[in-house]
Amino acid sequence: MAQGLLRQRRTLQSPQSPHIVVDGKPYLSFCSNDYLGLANHPELIDAMQRGAAQYGAGAGAAHLVSGHTRAHHELEVALADFVSKPAALLFSTGYMANLGAVQALVGKGDTVFADKLNHASLNDAMLLSRAEVQRYRHNDIAQLAQLLEKPRSGRKLVIADAVFSMDGDLAPLPELLALCERHDAWMLVDDAHGFGVLGEQGRGSLAHFKLDSPRIIYMATLGKAAGVFGAFVAAEQVVINTLVNHAHSYVYTTATPPALSVALLDSIKLIEQGDGLRAHLQLLLAQLRSGLHDLRWKLMPSSTAIQPLLIGDNKAALELSNALRERGIWVAAIRPPTVPQGTARLRITLSAAHTAADVTRLIGALHELAR
Ligand SMILES: *Cc1c(COP(=O)(O)O)cnc(C)c1O
Repeated sequence: MAQGLLRQRRTLQSPQSPHIVVDGKPYLSFCSNDYLGLANHPELIDAMQRGAAQYGAGAGAAHLVSGHTRAHHELEVALADFVSKPAALLFSTGYMANLGAVQALVGKGDTVFADKLNHASLNDAMLLSRAEVQRYRHNDIAQLAQLLEKPRSGRKLVIADAVFSMDGDLAPLPELLALCERHDAWMLVDDAHGFGVLGEQGRGSLAHFKLDSPRIIYMATLGKAAGVFGAFVAAEQVVINTLVNHAHSYVYTTATPPALSVALLDSIKLIEQGDGLRAHLQLLLAQLRSGLHDLRWKLMPSSTAIQPLLIGDNKAALELSNALRERGIWVAAIRPPTVPQGTARLRITLSAAHTAADVTRLIGALHELAR
């Protein structure tokens, strides 16, 4: 396609890990969100097998009918405890959690304030809710403050990614919360990329910033650092009760296979005990940033496992990604509309399952291709 925008899928023939097999060929991969390397962890594979033996393959019904098992319940209790919130509710995916939470909490007559670089699922959620939408420039607290100054009737909900998925930078959550407090707004934090990675014992972005407020509605996904599948919202009990009754993407859908919850209970333990994994991830990150500091293309400012290399032009980004692939290295090119025009990039993601030698190989290949 002329603009270099046509998407294609490739078929993996191996588990997700830094070393994958695609179309019969081995690749060193830097494009999963499996930040702690848990997706193929033997303990989680074993837990899923145990879970299937105990509960079968599928839940067979929605949570409000007969699909809500003890495994789901135990996981919700463990997740709420892990992120220090009174209650938690499991959703099938992060996409569905965002749709459900926003649609259940605001509607016509209410206003949503959203960062322009928020994840697509949050953008779709706002539209579906039928609330008025006010978007503010990326991390622009001053503009958000201005928008909140204007008197409005109805509820106010501020929504932000905690770690922006295509940029890897953090939202200034303490400043956002202060504004929400001043203007009596709720705050929905999407921690898809912070849960398991940031904060003490991987408890996520709220722990990282030491934030605790009943205003905060916390959403995190379980298919990224947690290595399995699913998502949850954690909040005050009254908020969770509202979601149980009004979030369509919770009510009108089949519960996830209970075996996933059994595996996720073990995953939380691995995350909690994963200081070694997170320390290794930090070392790889420092290695990558220092190894690429003098490259023609620049890494965007990011201190997380998401390290985007800014290319600019769509075709150039795609060509670089293809050239790396010819050298056996897999890094995804991210192009509009996923990111703004003129900011096509290679989204390099690191995992605790990478070795220093893996990162050295990527650095070497990028320097060669820059010549
Ligand atoms: C991946 C992601 C989601 C969606 O989560 P899934 O469980 O994959 O549906 C939501 N928000 C952000 C910021 C994400 O990166």
